[in-house]
Amino acid sequence: MLTIEWSASEGWQAPLIKPFGNLSLHPACSSLHYAIQAFDQSEFLECIRRLVKIDQDWVPHSDSASLYIRPTFLGTEQSLGVKKAANALLYVILCPVGSYFNSQTDGLSLWADPKYTRAWKGGTGNYKMGGNYGCSLFAQYEAEDHGCQQVLWLYGEDHQITEAGTMNIFLHWINEDGEEELATPPLDGIILPGVTRQSILELTGKWGEFKVTERYLTMSQLCSALQQLRVKEAFGSGTACMICPIRHIVYQGENLHIPCQDKDSQLSSRIAKELTDIQHGRTPSDWTFLV
Ligand SMILES: *Cc1c(COP(=O)(O)O)cnc(C)c1O
Repeated sequence: MLTIEWSASEGWQAPLIKPFGNLSLHPACSSLHYAIQAFDQSEFLECIRRLVKIDQDWVPHSDSASLYIRPTFLGTEQSLGVKKAANALLYVILCPVGSYFNSQTDGLSLWADPKYTRAWKGGTGNYKMGGNYGCSLFAQYEAEDHGCQQVLWLYGEDHQITEAGTMNIFLHWINEDGEEELATPPLDGIILPGVTRQSILELTGKWGEFKVTERYLTMSQLCSALQQLRVKEAFGSGTACMICPIRHIVYQGENLHIPCQDKDSQLSSRIAKELTDIQHGRTPSDWTFLV
């Protein structure tokens, strides 16, 4: 593991790569992202490169598995008070992972209940902060009680579609104006700005085959599009699963069936293939970084 300690008096300490071990944390440890001068980005990338190099034998040689890199930043202040931490730890651990959801091929089932809110304007939902995830588990368990795999997070009176579990969400459809469109909600403070989301927007934007839009999507827009057979596909995106087709949404007592194209014309599988080709170096790209 890679560890880099920080303290208010000394600033950032020298990065250290050491055998994986447990951390001893004070129970009051808290995430803090704006309280501290960030560690230099390119230095951090170099530290991760060295860590991966040391652990290179753990890199799976398969398209359906990868080495997951998990950086975390914690407050390690030795006190119980709610205040800006004077000590903090940035650390990185690695582990090989297989595909995240077992029923990936059949597609996900989502539970959409407007009584739960994942993130709100003025909150921290657009950061990968620990506090956002603990409180999402309650809804997750309710989704499972209703036979669904993940939560479809809605927002506001008009039940805006925001995210699916811990994934960004995409809708491939014929929009209200009759245009073929790939749409995902805009980064307005309640959406996690996922790197997979950004990659999909850039990749499909470059194809120039259909409209690629960051826009609001509501449940009522989705429901009328489903009725009028204008929905082609919907899928979630994230590092862990890459692309995960959505097959069912349970909403207000109804089980909405989300269509999918046949395997050869599926947008989700085409995007997944192009991204995997980039990740494995089969398609040259300035997104890759040589270890
Ligand atoms: C991690 C995460 C995502 C996906 O982000 P990636 O950078 O693509 O892995 C989307 N939504 C939430 C809530 C997340 O925590």
